[in-house]
Amino acid sequence: MTISVVIPCFNEEDSIPFFYSEMERIQIEMKKKFEYIFINDGSTDNTLSVLRRLNASNPNVHYLSFSRNFGKEAALYAGLQRATGDYVTVMDADLQDPPELLIEMYAKIQEGYDVVGTRRADRKGEPPIRSFFAKAFYWLINKISDTEMVDGARDFRLMTRQVVDAILELKEVNRFSKGLFSWVGFDVAYVSYENCERVAGETSWSFWKLLNYSLDGFINFSEVPLKLATWAGTFSFLISLVGIFFVVIRKLTIGGSVAGWASLVSIILFIGGIQLLALGIIGNYISKIFLETKKRPVYIVKEKG
Ligand code: UDP
Ligand code: MG
Repeated sequence: MTISVVIPCFNEEDSIPFFYSEMERIQIEMKKKFEYIFINDGSTDNTLSVLRRLNASNPNVHYLSFSRNFGKEAALYAGLQRATGDYVTVMDADLQDPPELLIEMYAKIQEGYDVVGTRRADRKGEPPIRSFFAKAFYWLINKISDTEMVDGARDFRLMTRQVVDAILELKEVNRFSKGLFSWVGFDVAYVSYENCERVAGETSWSFWKLLNYSLDGFINFSEVPLKLATWAGTFSFLISLVGIFFVVIRKLTIGGSVAGWASLVSIILFIGGIQLLALGIIGNYISKIFLETKKRPVYIVKEKG
């Protein structure tokens, strides 16, 4: 019985040794065989040489090295494709996903669950503005998407082979993992834990990257923005009908008037604004379609071991 451990790494030369020794300790404690799959996602530091060394010292350590940075989603996908274990777990290299939780997660999955996910009990140590936007994101996406996304749920999870195969069946190029993991369904249990700080290195997620990432979530897992555009259009069309009716009646009864240019300009600006907004929304979906139809590979491997 093997547990595959998929670890996306972007500039993690300092974290990987800590991570690896922690995991080896847990492996002994669990008396299970771990198959490590590190993905070097175009790191600019010495991550690759650290991985080569681990690979040479332990036949259960494998790595894929991308030709450039393709992002965590691509790295996860590559790792899941490469994993051969009966169970697969996905973990960050920075020890923010505590390895000792695996023991509890494994016990839980033995109870008959297909997936055991993890969620942070709190958002301690996170900038308040980031917490606020994260909370707003989860609130909104759960309102407008049929795919449920759990607030505070991390990518760290233990899955059965069946679930991994189901996820790999989803061939889309725009991979929003939080959504994909949830979309496939199955029986999911959650384990909570206290948020912990990165062991070394720096987070690669800036505020803007996160904001764009959340936009991806909306576009990939909801059609509500498109419906909003439709409703805004319908609403302003109905209002304009009432306006036309009013103007015609007034012309026929009390005669025309030249007053009202200020309100006219406001109305033109309002309509113009709605049109641009709707175009923007539609454009976002079209750009996703554009990327999907090109069918480019999600990642390119330069070296493996
Ligand atoms: N990561 C990656 N490619 C990227 C960015 C991040 O493979 O382009 C990896 C990173 O090495 C780490 C995990 O994804 O193992 C989570 O990243 P990070 O710790 O920076 O995110 P945070 O924990 O701050 O959300
Ligand atoms: Mg982290």
